[in-house]
Amino acid sequence: MQQTLAAPDIDVCPSLLGGGHRPETVAIIAEEGLLPAGLVNRLDALYPQYSRLKNAAVPLFTGKGSYSGIEGFREVCRVLAANGIEMGHETERELFIDVYRFLATRHTLNSIDWTSFATDSMFQLVFPQPGMIRRDVVAAYTSATSREERQRIAADYMRQTNPHDGKQQLNKPWLVTAAGEVEVLHGLQHKYPQIPLIFDQQTQHCFSFCTYCFRHAQVRGDEDMFVQKDIRAVHDYLRLHTEINDLLITGGDAGYLTAERFERYVTPLVEDPRLFHVKTVRLGSRALTYQPELILRRKYQPMLDLFDRLNENGIQVAWMAHFSTPREVLNPLTVAATRRLQAHRVVVRSQSPMMKHISLFEDADGSIDVERSARNWIDLANILGMLCVGFHSIYCARPTGEHHYFSAPLAEIHKVYDRIYRSLPSINRPSRHISMTTSAGKISILGTAEVHGETVFALKFSEGRNMRWLDKVFLARYDQTTHNVALLEPYDTETFFFEGELAAIEAELSATLAGSRA
Ligand code: SF4
Repeated sequence: MQQTLAAPDIDVCPSLLGGGHRPETVAIIAEEGLLPAGLVNRLDALYPQYSRLKNAAVPLFTGKGSYSGIEGFREVCRVLAANGIEMGHETERELFIDVYRFLATRHTLNSIDWTSFATDSMFQLVFPQPGMIRRDVVAAYTSATSREERQRIAADYMRQTNPHDGKQQLNKPWLVTAAGEVEVLHGLQHKYPQIPLIFDQQTQHCFSFCTYCFRHAQVRGDEDMFVQKDIRAVHDYLRLHTEINDLLITGGDAGYLTAERFERYVTPLVEDPRLFHVKTVRLGSRALTYQPELILRRKYQPMLDLFDRLNENGIQVAWMAHFSTPREVLNPLTVAATRRLQAHRVVVRSQSPMMKHISLFEDADGSIDVERSARNWIDLANILGMLCVGFHSIYCARPTGEHHYFSAPLAEIHKVYDRIYRSLPSINRPSRHISMTTSAGKISILGTAEVHGETVFALKFSEGRNMRWLDKVFLARYDQTTHNVALLEPYDTETFFFEGELAAIEAELSATLAGSRA
């Protein structure tokens, strides 16, 4: 049925005017035309079930910029209680916060629909939920009689969580100095030839904390976190590795990088011909979801100038967002911030986690609701398309943190992905099939096949410790229950084709890194 769109009738979204935003932000949006009425009206008319673009209600959270830790959580509960909203399960939620953390910006909190918060995807994304942590641990924590005892129970449990999946410590690169010594770069991961990841010392924070975080060692500040202090060593390493095309500055959140420090990273890429092989700089950030105002301030101008400079020197700047629900996108600040980046030729792309309770939904009987789950992603992809945001990838929960809560059988996830893929126009599809990270690389599930009357999974690497592995489709026995691609069994062979070589690569990396510590 043809839908009638309301005629454009606004210059600035009404919700901006009543939403407690900085006058400076509202002024930038108006001056730079970041919220054209035609776009706002079209998005709001097509997707009213997600949109807060025209929500002019006064938000609940108008005071602090963010709320952190147990105290911040309790403050949020007090604000809600004052508005007649009881979250419930507070003690169990506090256990999660003691083990991991809690952090939420005002923008995040005001993105939640508090009239039906329990099923709100933003609420699920940021707030600890009952059932995340094992029952026996919850029972012990709940019956503890002092704060100290609770903290001890949480600390004991923390040691059982899995902070680094996929043997990430093996991904640290090194270079050999003029004196013949091995210098390990402790804030880098270089697993795939074209792209190292930089965990800069300024990007060790997040704007809000995702409950499924697969980098909680970084966020929590564990001893073995990756931290890059020395920018010179990064450039030395890059000069030696001409196979590198692409840098990914990540964290935590690359949105925390100051313009001054970003300039120190990128100026040599522009000026030194020995670094001309680096053609893309990616920034991994959830600021568009959690703190879009970051980009809508006058003081962000030096970063925008650097993006322009990189563009004028043939270096692509890619902002890697992590949208997984339309609710994250359809508010005035996220749309305006996205458009401000794009006005400076930043390519905004989304690499998106598919997580149960947030973007993967269950029926009443606990099985995956394929239609509802797929609808979330189809709508998200089409909304991103309307905003000229490229959809990079969808990936499965990694086996870290409370994996059981967010993950689902791969067989079910694959059904959801199939439905998404065939429903989208090709321009809006993710650039690869759904994947899961393992020590060997990112393994994509291409689909299922029938071989000699047996159903099998067809798999393919989309990134690998050995990139030659990408050329080959390989088969695994169909498994209706496993949530982890690394636990699949090979079909018709003793081992997967790459396992012997992977063991040799891992052993060599391990020996070199151990030698550097000796
Ligand atoms: S933004 Fe990334 S590092 Fe930070 S909490 Fe979320 S998943 Fe973890």
